[in-house]
Amino acid sequence: MEKKPFERPFIKKLQAGMPSKFGMKSMTEPITHIDDIPVSEIIADYGSPVYVLSEKTIRDQFKKAKHAFTTRYPKVQFAWSYKTNYLDAVCRIFHQEGSWAEVVSGFEYDKALQNGVKGSQIIFNGPAKTDEELKKAIDNDSLIHIDHFDEMYAIIAISENSEKRPKVAIRVNMDTGIYPMWDRFGFNYESGDAWDAINRIMVNEKLDLVGLHAHIGTYMFSAGSYKIAAGKLADLAYGIERKYGVNIKYIDVGGGFASQNTLKGAYYPGSDTTPSFDEYAEAISSALLNSQINPRNLPTLILETGRALIDDAGYLLGTVIANKRLSSGNRATIVDVGVNLLFTSFWYEHEVYPAAPVSEHMEETTIFGPLCMNIDVIRDAIAFPLLKKGDHFVIKRIGAYNMTQWMQFITLRPNVVLTGTDGKVHLIRKQEHMDLIRQQEVIPGHLK
Ligand SMILES: *Cc1c(COP(=O)(O)O)cnc(C)c1O
Repeated sequence: MEKKPFERPFIKKLQAGMPSKFGMKSMTEPITHIDDIPVSEIIADYGSPVYVLSEKTIRDQFKKAKHAFTTRYPKVQFAWSYKTNYLDAVCRIFHQEGSWAEVVSGFEYDKALQNGVKGSQIIFNGPAKTDEELKKAIDNDSLIHIDHFDEMYAIIAISENSEKRPKVAIRVNMDTGIYPMWDRFGFNYESGDAWDAINRIMVNEKLDLVGLHAHIGTYMFSAGSYKIAAGKLADLAYGIERKYGVNIKYIDVGGGFASQNTLKGAYYPGSDTTPSFDEYAEAISSALLNSQINPRNLPTLILETGRALIDDAGYLLGTVIANKRLSSGNRATIVDVGVNLLFTSFWYEHEVYPAAPVSEHMEETTIFGPLCMNIDVIRDAIAFPLLKKGDHFVIKRIGAYNMTQWMQFITLRPNVVLTGTDGKVHLIRKQEHMDLIRQQEVIPGHLK
């Protein structure tokens, strides 16, 4: 029999909580306040359901992330991913903190301009930029990240009738050990496509290749895959330095850092398994610093982090509509928050807390939304105390994507408020009304 290799034993701290003789702790601490403002007061003033964003949490998270990177790498720039949450108030907080804008459509591009972002500080990503949008981005000296050859040819064609020299980067996709691989965006590293794109840009006098970009996926819980990605981009940058004597100005490793939410089916809660900003920063900065790139010409490191910066700052407050028993005997709680307002409930086990102290008795419960749809489930099974009709609850960590991927479906979208660092509650998006929806509709004459 073959001898197995020896593995040193080690002691690891249990992070998931302390079991008692009855098993894991099952009490739910209520969330009664957000930034010292009573949840009941927010609902009384702004209705239920209502989204709440904490300005303090946004700024704290940003500072934490920035600190992790700037202490490890000399040139760092964040660019706020608009599609993650493009409420103007949110974007402006990130811009005040020094973030540029990262946009993936003409709509988001215009939103960034209207938020006062300089054209030269807008990164234009995405696979579907129109000629008109490209022309505007070129005129404004924005950074255009090319997704495919047809887009490259469009930029070349536009630049032939323009004084401007478009500033471009290519998006690179690659094998980082995470499958399925995201290979539909950009040019592939392993196949040589990326070099093909680089060479075409470099021999074209009109285009200015300023950066290299990769966005390897979203909710990536392996810091190691960023190390691979940053290493491969650094390899390309070094190759360009050698072949053309040109220094790439920036390497953009995209977004995708995991937030602390728990994915459906995950064994451990996300708050125990998600890498910290420090771990991501360590992986990325060491890949760049240990690369062959000449240290005198280190490129700026750009980060397009979205969800990991905003998820924790978002809450969705709601009210219990009813309780009932399912045919299985299981308890069901029906609430006024549906999947139309909580898109991320399709892949996260969202944490739901009572908004006031309640009985310690917990029972496995299914939480349904108010939509007349079987799929309207906020949680399939959660150990939850009995909340009565009219009781309030708080869903935590919902700041990313829910305020952009929400649907006007069956009901209207509710108010969004910001708990400000000034201690006040600010309305940042008004609830929708019938008139707003109907004004977009046109009734043909014969139906009037
Ligand atoms: C969506 C997106 C991001 C942000 O991703 P997160 O998972 O929210 O961090 C960054 N860059 C690009 C190109 C994107 O498409």
